[in-house]
Amino acid sequence: MEEKMKAASNYDKALLQTKELYQYILDTSVYPNEPEPLKELREVSASHPSYWMGTAPDAGQLMGILLKLINAKRTIEIGVFTGYSLLLTALAIPDDGKIIAIDVDREAYEMGFPIIKKAGIEHKVDFINAEALGALDDLMANLDNEGSFDFAFVDADKVNYLNYHERLMKLVKVGGLVVYDNTLWRGSVAMPEDTVGKKYKEGRKLLLEFNKLLANDARVQICHASIGDGMTICRRLH
Ligand code: SAH
Ligand code: CA
Repeated sequence: MEEKMKAASNYDKALLQTKELYQYILDTSVYPNEPEPLKELREVSASHPSYWMGTAPDAGQLMGILLKLINAKRTIEIGVFTGYSLLLTALAIPDDGKIIAIDVDREAYEMGFPIIKKAGIEHKVDFINAEALGALDDLMANLDNEGSFDFAFVDADKVNYLNYHERLMKLVKVGGLVVYDNTLWRGSVAMPEDTVGKKYKEGRKLLLEFNKLLANDARVQICHASIGDGMTICRRLH
């Protein structure tokens, strides 16, 4: 029975299996459609020592379509870095939209800022240079913010994902989306603990716990997408 179920789910076809296949997706569908400012931001960010932290362009393409589908206008971003996901969000929301963008690292944000400015969308960005948990609490202190956001992207310290989730379940409206990044943690969530490198152990543990909690959270409908480093899309149900 178990075997039949597995076969029926086509699990062996569902994951990206080769580098060539990934490159094919990028070359065919992603790069030809990537807006010029995003391309430029990706190039500028490549010289940052932590360049690998930037959102992958194919994952960005998914976020872009989600933002358009829900007509997102007010959004929250936790973890800005040089601004790839921030810029793509700013390009997707209307001219009077707003992104509350939170990061402890102002320097990285400043690296991408000239491109954000050149793209003419800086008026949509409210950058908060602070620890995200405190910044979310400040937002919640203003009751007008409750249920007022259409979308949130969470891409910072994994140790606080649960804390962010609790707050975002109040700040994001019913029907709104919260997207969590890096939820497959380089595939380590499916590896036996003793085979996982030291660098990934702690994150693996945190994400195993987080993924389990989300899957059992009746407040959200989820889709665990194997794109980038794993993205879990949650729609608030009530
Ligand atoms: N979304 C970005 C990548 C974010 S990388 C992109 O598309 O490029 C993660 C970011 O989270 C880093 O810039 C780091 O400074 C920030 N960060 C880590 N811990 C944080 C915290 N507690 N509060 C706010 N930002 C944090
Ligand atoms: Ca990420």
